[in-house]
Amino acid sequence: MRSAKASGIYNVVVVGAGTAGLVTAAGTASLGGRVALIERHRMGGDCLNFGCVPSKALISSARLARQMREAEKWGLHKQEPQFEFREVMERMRARRGKIAPNDSQERFESLGVDVFRGEARFVSPHEVEVDGQRLRAKNFVIATGSRATIPQIAGLEAIPFFTNETIFDELHEKPESMAVLGGGPIGCELGQAFSRLGVKITIVHNGDQLLPPEDRDVAEFMQKQFAAEGITVRLNAQTQRVRTENGKVILETNEGDITADTWLIAAGRTPNIEQLNLAGAGVKHNEHGVEVNDYMQTSQSHIYAAGDIANRLKFTHTADFTARAVVRNILMPLQLLRQKVDFSVVPWCTYTDPEVAHVGLGEKEAAKRGIACDLFSVQLEEVDRAVVESKEAGFAKVLTRKGSDEILGATIVAPHAGDLLHEFVLAMNAGVGLGQIASMIHAYPTFAELARKAGDKYNKTRLTPFAKKLFAWLYRRARR
Ligand SMILES: Cc1cc2nc3c(=O)[nH]c(=O)nc-3n(C[C@H](O)[C@H](O)[C@H](O)COP(=O)(O)OP(=O)(O)OC[C@H]3O[C@@H](n4cnc5c(N)ncnc54)[C@H](O)[C@@H]3O)c2cc1C
Repeated sequence: MRSAKASGIYNVVVVGAGTAGLVTAAGTASLGGRVALIERHRMGGDCLNFGCVPSKALISSARLARQMREAEKWGLHKQEPQFEFREVMERMRARRGKIAPNDSQERFESLGVDVFRGEARFVSPHEVEVDGQRLRAKNFVIATGSRATIPQIAGLEAIPFFTNETIFDELHEKPESMAVLGGGPIGCELGQAFSRLGVKITIVHNGDQLLPPEDRDVAEFMQKQFAAEGITVRLNAQTQRVRTENGKVILETNEGDITADTWLIAAGRTPNIEQLNLAGAGVKHNEHGVEVNDYMQTSQSHIYAAGDIANRLKFTHTADFTARAVVRNILMPLQLLRQKVDFSVVPWCTYTDPEVAHVGLGEKEAAKRGIACDLFSVQLEEVDRAVVESKEAGFAKVLTRKGSDEILGATIVAPHAGDLLHEFVLAMNAGVGLGQIASMIHAYPTFAELARKAGDKYNKTRLTPFAKKLFAWLYRRARR
């Protein structure tokens, strides 16, 4: 018989119903565990409501708008797209609404999960309080995610701004101009999307390149692309003060003033830990979030953490990955049966146009770690499919261990780069070398030929002067 909601002992109490919390709750319930899931705001967390889903829906409309403006590339008359900004935003929310039922309270209740709405707070290492009720459990999972970091800028308190948590629901009318604070993935994706929807964008970034984790050539490529689309990028710009004048927002930076109708803050992420009373649970944390070991256990081994709150690489797929590990590890009765989480091959993608997808080492990281590599690059214009599609701007870079075909990393800048990357992700996980990729049949004409061509380039390096002489001799001999 099922115990009454909130009574007795749960197997797992999960705090946060974003990707990590939902995967943990659904996984545990499907294996027969008794689970409570607590959410203080919207079911689905950032990815569904304020992150991946609405941003990619918006990017999709923006891409089409750009294609219409560039229709000449395809032999059609170019034209300025006719649209109402408000309707594009409504379409984005409607697309999000289509996905939302997957993460809804009703769906999770139908899976047998007890869902609680309210803010969770540890009252002891074995009890969490929500909405006046105390929940006891054998294990807890902290999956409270992260939020936009609000930098310390003089005058900020008095000036309204957007973050990813407000822009998708509260921006209805098209502003003439927008300053985007932050040139990381979120700033670049949203900056380009809004620019294509007719907003004059200035990206204000305090570092010396956009997309900081990527190699400089990748960032410079995107910066050129942005410039060609009319986006202004201000690098090394520290915003010291913000004020308003005649209804405009003015960011005062060391690089001069930047004036816009409105501004979006996309300047990094802050872990959601403040309300949890982690001290009361004896869980260690730092400015990056909750500290975990390789098993995703916190300093209290029965309390686990998953997702942005614990991951250095903050993505939906890493939240999902760590949550799955947590489900397995909680089920195991002994530490020696538990699995360590392996972050050695983590792909990611920035959904700009073209997309920038990355796995493993880039040149910058390899140099930093002193790892000797060979580099194989393929320009998109070498790929027939890219040429026929008029999408030749982009490239792929593959790093192999010096003198071998072991793939250490790959970066692809191309349409659908996030999808194309997975050939390299699989190869790295399965220990398939770049030479083997070249010997696989790739359908023609596809963008995936990028990978085969990188493999061909590797194979050419194996044609030593001696081997070349030997082959020439064999051919001569055959002609006799
Ligand atoms: C604009 C944007 C675009 C993005 N695009 C992508 C993308 O394309 N691909 C990708 O992989 N990643 C993307 N991300 C990152 C991705 O959204 C996050 O990595 C992912 O949502 C993390 O999931 P999570 O479960 O750890 O946290 P969250 O989704 O943040 O969920 C945590 C939940 O915990 C709740 N919570 C917090 N504290 C408490 C408490 N005390 N009590 C109860 N509930 C609490 C919160 O309300 C929230 O719902 C994007 C992020 C942003 C901001």
